[in-house]
Amino acid sequence: MDELIQAVRGTVIRPGDAGYEGARRVYNADIDRRPAAIVACADAADVSRGVGYAHEHGLAVAIRGGGHSAAGFGTCDGGLVLDLSAMKGIRVDAKRRIARAEAGCTWGDFDRATQAQGLATPGGIISTTGLGGLTTGGGFGYLSRLHGLACDNVISADVVTAAGTLVAASATQNADLFWAIRGGGGNFGVVTAFEFRLHPVTQVYAGPILYAPEQAADAMRMYRDFMRSAPRNLSAFFAFLMVPPGPPFPEPLWLKTVPGIMCAYFGDAAAGEAAIAPLRAFGPPLAALTGPMPYTVLQSLFDGLLPPGLHHYWKSDFASDLNDEMIAVHAKFGPQIPTVNSAMHIYPLDGAIHDVPTGDTAFAYRDVRFVHIIAAVTPEAVRLAGYREWVRAYWSALHPYSAGGTYVNFLMEEGEQRVSESYRGNHARLAAIKAQYDPGNVFRVNQNILPAHHS
Ligand SMILES: Cc1cc2nc3c(=O)[nH]c(=O)nc-3n(C[C@H](O)[C@H](O)[C@H](O)COP(=O)(O)OP(=O)(O)OC[C@H]3O[C@@H](n4cnc5c(N)ncnc54)[C@H](O)[C@@H]3O)c2cc1C
Repeated sequence: MDELIQAVRGTVIRPGDAGYEGARRVYNADIDRRPAAIVACADAADVSRGVGYAHEHGLAVAIRGGGHSAAGFGTCDGGLVLDLSAMKGIRVDAKRRIARAEAGCTWGDFDRATQAQGLATPGGIISTTGLGGLTTGGGFGYLSRLHGLACDNVISADVVTAAGTLVAASATQNADLFWAIRGGGGNFGVVTAFEFRLHPVTQVYAGPILYAPEQAADAMRMYRDFMRSAPRNLSAFFAFLMVPPGPPFPEPLWLKTVPGIMCAYFGDAAAGEAAIAPLRAFGPPLAALTGPMPYTVLQSLFDGLLPPGLHHYWKSDFASDLNDEMIAVHAKFGPQIPTVNSAMHIYPLDGAIHDVPTGDTAFAYRDVRFVHIIAAVTPEAVRLAGYREWVRAYWSALHPYSAGGTYVNFLMEEGEQRVSESYRGNHARLAAIKAQYDPGNVFRVNQNILPAHHS
């Protein structure tokens, strides 16, 4: 390893080094793994050196961007972690509406740079999530009904393959690799930089609306029907949540479990207020906390609820619709949310996401309306075991009505069959591309797609 230490510009952190205990950790505190070393990469050359070293020594590579993988794929036991978080260069070309961002950026870094020019691209709803994992898994957020998945907005990427070679991937260069990294996760190489298409985003009208617990089922039906005809510049997700104990929430609601809808309208406040009027009229709500806000505020609204260091357990599924049977399940289990950090969210996956044909990217579920996630999150490690049972029971009751697979970025370690279901018709092509770019499965710390000749 001395050779690797000499070869990289960044630092190599090994067991026993000061900083190892912190560096081996990821966002989900429930993950406790001990890599052979962590390479804090300074640039794409460091990534190449790291991959080359791992390849030569038969080590698994864990790629870490923002470290948010709940399954803990940003670290590993005995392998090499390539930590990209110091690689944060961003160049915004406002005229061409393109941003080139290194893969260590978080969405907060990216939004800050692009919003300075009044531009944005679809990203996640928490600003500390990494560009790398979210985009390679698909990636959706408030802008997705209007502009598609994060991966739909990638124009090109620089990728270090399992051979340690840096290649370009785009519609015209290594097109099969470009197809695979748009939904196929970290199976095919390490993206060192993305080039994203940007869109004007200047005015946002957004916020949560909370309803009475006894209206949960009716509120869900109203949400389902409302979203069917909602304009694309309006996004809204449904949630069961425990109301955070602090402003702007009214004190009588603090720590009460309620159903709610978080909405975000892209346009001016008057038009936004009109667009969400049916949501504000229903009930009436216990609280409607909507108003104009900067996009960067919207994108970090829930950061405080989900700091690093909490213990997470999630399960999720795609859903073609939100039928009455599912609503009955939600009405039973949703109110049992265990902590203020936990939640059940139903995100819309329609609009512009449906415009892209299913075969055009590795992301395979372009025909479903929703994805739901049930997430138990707690600062207390000992409590997670009990909360897992709530997640599993809730998920199991919903699963018969689901579309089959799920969003790979919401999947924890649920086995090969689940991964295959989550890529459905695209899985065979992904396995063939994996065999071409990573035949030895160096990149296996992920929702793993086995190279075709192994399966
Ligand atoms: C609080 C929270 C909120 C979230 N909200 C959303 C949301 O709104 N929308 C959404 O779509 N998802 C959301 N997610 C899920 C998120 O997309 C995944 O957790 C994703 O893996 C995070 O990316 P990361 O870079 O932070 O993860 P990391 O843990 O750093 O990486 C996870 C895996 O992604 C792959 N990967 C990461 N970087 C690269 C790279 N540069 N090249 C190749 N592969 C790479 C690797 O396989 C890696 O092991 C959320 C997650 C959390 C914890």
